[in-house]
Amino acid sequence: MRNVTSIIADNVARVWERIAAAADRAGRSADDVRLVAITKYVGPDEARALMEAGCRDLGESRPQELWRKAEALYGDSVSWHMVGHLQRNKTRRTIRLIASLHSGDSERLMRAVSEAAIDLPTPLPVLLEVNVSGDVQKHGFAPGELVECVHRLIELPGIEIRGLMAMAARGSTPETARKDFVTLRELRDRLQPQLPAHVLLNDLSMGMSGDFEVAVEEGATIVRIGSLLYEGLDP
Ligand SMILES: *Cc1c(COP(=O)(O)O)cnc(C)c1O
Repeated sequence: MRNVTSIIADNVARVWERIAAAADRAGRSADDVRLVAITKYVGPDEARALMEAGCRDLGESRPQELWRKAEALYGDSVSWHMVGHLQRNKTRRTIRLIASLHSGDSERLMRAVSEAAIDLPTPLPVLLEVNVSGDVQKHGFAPGELVECVHRLIELPGIEIRGLMAMAARGSTPETARKDFVTLRELRDRLQPQLPAHVLLNDLSMGMSGDFEVAVEEGATIVRIGSLLYEGLDP
């Protein structure tokens, strides 16, 4: 039985090979894609194994789990990313622990994050989550809503808006996910010229285990991958 560290290291290497192949198909460089390893299915030990396999960007979708693992790995050189819905009452504690928030999903939340982030030593990098599939159960700005309010969001102190994030519709296949990723990229291309020069929406956080290759082909700069990294581990 191989140990957890080597299983995870192999899985990470395989994911990087697939990212590189997808980037190559699109005429992009794999250096322009960052992997955020999602730790929500595992504990601190596996998170540390990811770190040893070279994953320096780790992500969580629930604030309490992020707090727990960030504390367990305190002092290790990893950056945490909050990728799931953040309740406003958990904002203050969470933003101190993270390198970026991928799930800036409403104007109300962005105002609360801004208010709390004013005390941080440097502005908090934030991505605006867009509900590209229109699923009523999903968080995120409707594309039209974002066009209308982005001008106010970029004025908020304490945060720095760096791009957009989305998830493909539930139950989609890689090929049906493609249109959601294209929607996100086209929305970014439409917003960018309307913004002042210092606001650069360079990041597109899109693509998960089931669809990251398509996301890379469509311009993802960050992929968020969980399940694939734990294949072969005992449940
Ligand atoms: C769980 C999760 C992921 C990773 O999903 P996998 O399909 O396990 O790769 C990515 N992004 C968000 C927001 C998630 O909640």
